[in-house]
Amino acid sequence: MYDYDLLVLGSGPSGQRAAIAASKLGRRVGIVDRRDMIGGVCINTGTVPSKTLREAVLYLTGLNQRDLYGSSYRVKEEITVSDLAARTQHVISRQTDVIRNQLARNRISMITGTGRFADAHAIWVDGGSGRESKITADRIIIAAGTRPARPDSVDFDDRTIVDSDGVINLNAVPRSMVVVGAGVIGMEYASMFAALGTKVTVVERREKMLDFCDEEIVESLKYHLRDLSVTFRFGEEVAAVERHQTAALCILKSGKKIVADTVMYSAGRQGQTDDLALEAAGLEADRRGRITVDANYRTAVENIYAVGDVIGFPALASTSMEQGRLAAHHACGEPQREMHSLQPIGIYTIPEISFVGKTEDELTEASTPFEVGIARYRELARGQIVGDSYGMLKLLVSPGDGRLLGVHVFGTGATEIVHIGQAVMGCGGTVEYLVDAVFNYPTLAEAYKVAALDASNKIRNIVRIDG
Ligand SMILES: Cc1cc2nc3c(=O)[nH]c(=O)nc-3n(C[C@H](O)[C@H](O)[C@H](O)COP(=O)(O)OP(=O)(O)OC[C@H]3O[C@@H](n4cnc5c(N)ncnc54)[C@H](O)[C@@H]3O)c2cc1C
Repeated sequence: MYDYDLLVLGSGPSGQRAAIAASKLGRRVGIVDRRDMIGGVCINTGTVPSKTLREAVLYLTGLNQRDLYGSSYRVKEEITVSDLAARTQHVISRQTDVIRNQLARNRISMITGTGRFADAHAIWVDGGSGRESKITADRIIIAAGTRPARPDSVDFDDRTIVDSDGVINLNAVPRSMVVVGAGVIGMEYASMFAALGTKVTVVERREKMLDFCDEEIVESLKYHLRDLSVTFRFGEEVAAVERHQTAALCILKSGKKIVADTVMYSAGRQGQTDDLALEAAGLEADRRGRITVDANYRTAVENIYAVGDVIGFPALASTSMEQGRLAAHHACGEPQREMHSLQPIGIYTIPEISFVGKTEDELTEASTPFEVGIARYRELARGQIVGDSYGMLKLLVSPGDGRLLGVHVFGTGATEIVHIGQAVMGCGGTVEYLVDAVFNYPTLAEAYKVAALDASNKIRNIVRIDG
């Protein structure tokens, strides 16, 4: 009766996983996206380009090797935008190819164009030729993602005043940059440009940044970034940005003026729902373009689901993929479990941050007692070998039963090794497991054993005195 059992709007991480999951369940699946956006924001403008750029910056600047070879160590003296773009373009095209291949192998029809609802079971697809085709489906999953929010008062020109999409296409590495907004994306780019030698000023309206992370780790990050000549202006707001011939002038509400080659706005993101004609399907989005869903990612209309960034928090590629898979299972009537509540956060600043579970502040606020176990990379053989003297791993442990309540990592490989702690926590393991476990030597993973010993020694000392 319908062209497809399931039609997915958007080929980002959530759309891909939804389409593949439904196809594995034997459904006829189609996925709609624009020709140059296969893989979504994730592959084309967001996660993958930014993380590739970071790798290129770290490699070419030799930043991570300077502890070993001295502060003047560089792989390339003059790093150009084309040095950086070469690696980014290479990875984007390879990843796009991988995704096309995965969709094809799973017999998912790739429909090129922009979709909008005709009704709750039909989508008009505009392939760019001026003619729209109507495609029908029993179930529809909206995976349309987000775009950078652009304040109306700011005159973006994609050269001097850019957002996170524009920053990857700059003509030259700026000598100076103002980053407006100290959120995850803002701080990731602030780190990268600071590592390249750009004089970065971060302007943030609030008094703190990344306040959902461990406070000690955020302090360490700020220390490192200041060392790379980053200036922080907390509790400050940009009142106006003037574009001049050679640079931009940022005027803060406090009256301060900052001249910069580039101003990058990182002021949140907006759901890409304006062009979807949601009303034709009986749906609506909120002020920020987000769609409301229930625990199964079903919208107010029974046969329509929404997943990924378009439904809001946590708006990560990692969680979006899982939402897509779960929504497809529900849409196909397949029994499913809920998404695991333990979700790691990875922040690819320089150095990187990752954590899973609770922070010290959250535990204190909830009056949950905890003990802290710390391992510093500089005390690990692998830390010395890789030249990381600042990294650390912190375990938050329940003194009563030894459960891990939180794992916080700062430094080399943080976003990788956090998963060891996640696995132990997810399986209900205790600090005793980490004390008794044998780790490969020399590794950064060994930090778990060192931190576990630290925490359990502290707990033992308390028990000895307190009974
Ligand atoms: C700079 C940056 C860095 C990031 N870094 C990380 C990170 O390190 N780790 C992490 O987990 N997450 C990261 N994210 C977030 C991550 O990119 C998103 O969470 C993820 O891409 C969301 O996936 P999605 O499936 O919602 O769709 P998206 O990736 O947002 O893609 C949506 C797709 O839908 C398509 N679409 C929209 N409307 C229509 C329409 N009408 N018709 C057809 N197609 C349509 C778009 O063309 C697009 O291809 C980052 C984001 C940014 C911007």
